[in-house]
Amino acid sequence: MSQINHCVELAAFPEGIPDKSHFRMGTRPYPEPKDGEFVVRNDYLSLDPFLRGVISGRQMYAVTLNVGDVMFGTTVGTVIASKHGDYAEGDTVTLGGGWQQFALSDGDGVRKVHAGDNPLSLQVGILGMPGLTAYAGLLHTAHPQAGETVVVSAAAGPVGSMVGQLARLNGARAVGIAGSDEKCRAVVDTFGFDACINYKTQDLSTALGEACPDGVNVYFDNVGGSTLEAVLGKLALGARVTLCGLITQYNAKTTPPGPNLGPVIGARAIMTGFVVYDHYDKWDEFQTTCSRYVADGDIRFLEDRAQGLDNAAAHFSRLMRGENFGKSLVVVTPD
Ligand code: NDP
Repeated sequence: MSQINHCVELAAFPEGIPDKSHFRMGTRPYPEPKDGEFVVRNDYLSLDPFLRGVISGRQMYAVTLNVGDVMFGTTVGTVIASKHGDYAEGDTVTLGGGWQQFALSDGDGVRKVHAGDNPLSLQVGILGMPGLTAYAGLLHTAHPQAGETVVVSAAAGPVGSMVGQLARLNGARAVGIAGSDEKCRAVVDTFGFDACINYKTQDLSTALGEACPDGVNVYFDNVGGSTLEAVLGKLALGARVTLCGLITQYNAKTTPPGPNLGPVIGARAIMTGFVVYDHYDKWDEFQTTCSRYVADGDIRFLEDRAQGLDNAAAHFSRLMRGENFGKSLVVVTPD
């Protein structure tokens, strides 16, 4: 076993879109567990849009990261040494394991994983935090009804693709919005949405009118900005809007002017700000329901993988440019 713990450190706080220059490879000593601790070999590292806030130089999501620190990130991995009564060698767990090969833990914030026949990597994707975001933000927050139309942006990503598939499994129509024809094809052909609009090449307002002739009953917003503005203009009476993400603003220096909320009044719509951390009490229900869907082939997934920690920084930059195709993750330990 390697006695060195290879890692990726934050090298500088980025302005605008982060790139490789904002990160550097480093090493830490291989961690030795004391009583009440255990060591996890990180197998897969999740790259998530919220990490842009974590490296902004401000405290975000209860994480403070300084230049020189090991980069923060969620991982799924295997316990390889333990002096903790609740965790044994061979257990698989998710944790804030960071951009490194090995993580030392006392169990705080750790979840045991029972992946069954589903791939382990899904525990940081559609069967992990992004999946719970879709599950709770759609089913427990917007309450889609059979026959209603659900629209979701960033539809090819883990949150968006789960929202559309869960909408359809609950009898609603699903209309995606995504940033390329290739992504739109995957949204319809792989994820089974009823339609998908390429917001970069189509007039969004016109295309929404065609895809949603009776209006939008539920909008699950992952992006904000002009996409949110266009969908608000198509809300049906009594619509519900889940405000989940603002990725169009994560790399911006100034906040762009907000949308006009007049259509929300006209449609008597309900808009709800959504944060997944309020919904972890639904974790077991979500995992039981969605693991079965995945195992039965009723929910499908795409992953955008990089091999090895030394490719993590470039892969995160790709996510921040919107070029990821599916859940962005790094294979830290090859199978
Ligand atoms: P994705 O894998 O979907 O990646 C982000 C996608 O956003 C890109 O691929 C891109 O797709 C789209 N995008 C649109 N505009 C931009 C832009 N200006 N720059 C970069 N990308 C852009 O991410 P996730 O599924 O993991 O997350 C989706 C959203 O959900 C994010 O906003 C995230 O922050 C939010 N979220 C919120 C949570 C909460 O608790 N509220 C919890 C988890 C996630 P395209 O090419 O289609 O535009």
